[in-house]
Amino acid sequence: MEKICVAVRVRPPVSEGTFNGTFWKVEDNRVSLHRQHGTPISGISYTFDHVFDETCSNARVYDLLTKDIIHAAVQGFNGTVFAYGQTSSGKTFTMNGSPTNPGIIPLAVKDIFEKIQMISDREFLIRVSYMEIYNEEINDLFAVENQKLQIHESLERGIFVSGLREEIVNNAEQVLKFIESGEVNRHFGETNMNVRSSRSHTIFRMVIESKGKETNSSSNDSSTDAVRVSVLNLVDLAGSERIAKTGADGVRLKEGKHINKSLMALGNVINKLSDGAKQRGHIPYRDSKLTRILQPALGGNAKTSIICTIAPEEVHIEETKGTLQFASRAK
Ligand code: ADP
Ligand code: MG
Repeated sequence: MEKICVAVRVRPPVSEGTFNGTFWKVEDNRVSLHRQHGTPISGISYTFDHVFDETCSNARVYDLLTKDIIHAAVQGFNGTVFAYGQTSSGKTFTMNGSPTNPGIIPLAVKDIFEKIQMISDREFLIRVSYMEIYNEEINDLFAVENQKLQIHESLERGIFVSGLREEIVNNAEQVLKFIESGEVNRHFGETNMNVRSSRSHTIFRMVIESKGKETNSSSNDSSTDAVRVSVLNLVDLAGSERIAKTGADGVRLKEGKHINKSLMALGNVINKLSDGAKQRGHIPYRDSKLTRILQPALGGNAKTSIICTIAPEEVHIEETKGTLQFASRAK
């Protein structure tokens, strides 16, 4: 079982003057709550594989938490990278980035095409898909007509989302164009937190298939002839904030319940996996669509990173503690 890599990233403050009593201090791979005049508050301190402060670039996050997963995916290993955190903490900034600071998805796409170009003895076929899970329903972000898709399992294909559009792609620019068109179809909702918050999980998926090229000397060599297929999931999770805080009712309340349920299922699966050999046994992948879809690329010899994003402002302190606790359970 591969170790799950867990990181925390603190985004820059949105407004000035929000720090009165306490602040989150980052030292090496530790984040702790401190009083204004600098003394740590005992008991509120966490260590992870990495902790990134507000000056950290997406490129650095990519290098430390995604690059190895991408390179392994090219070699045939499955992998998953998550962004977890409350709305406005920087999940989408981390995964998608901005025009001047490309995020993990565009960096991964670019890296994959560079990598496969350097491998001369194999032929590659790359397919991409983009889906959202909204209220436990799977929708295709590449094809609006594909709504409420079902998860199936077969001997040949394993676990798959039936009817999901897959695009065969040949270069990074083409992938980024598809993603852009998919973004338009994402579900957004207005909440009392006064931000345009994402209420759905989105999974950007690349399937990397390769086989050895036929050459005179190696055509009988089964190691190069073997077809390798790997799945890479880059996941921007729905906001982890608890329902009460956003003053939700009706539609928002229903969304919140589904979000909480699937994030809890994810936490349970990851917790079981990271317990590893100590506590083998049943892993509850079937408790949510999210964990079921990700099952083949979560656990076993798949590689996983989780980037937990937190907001530095005091007003978010309880949500931040919740995120740090989720991150701690994943270690
Ligand atoms: P989320 O997806 O978690 O709701 P966003 O990624 O949309 O949060 O981030 C909220 C706001 O903060 C956006 O305007 C985003 O550009 C900005 N932001 C988030 N993280 C960073 C960062 N590390 N550096 C600069 N700006 C950031
Ligand atoms: Mg977002």
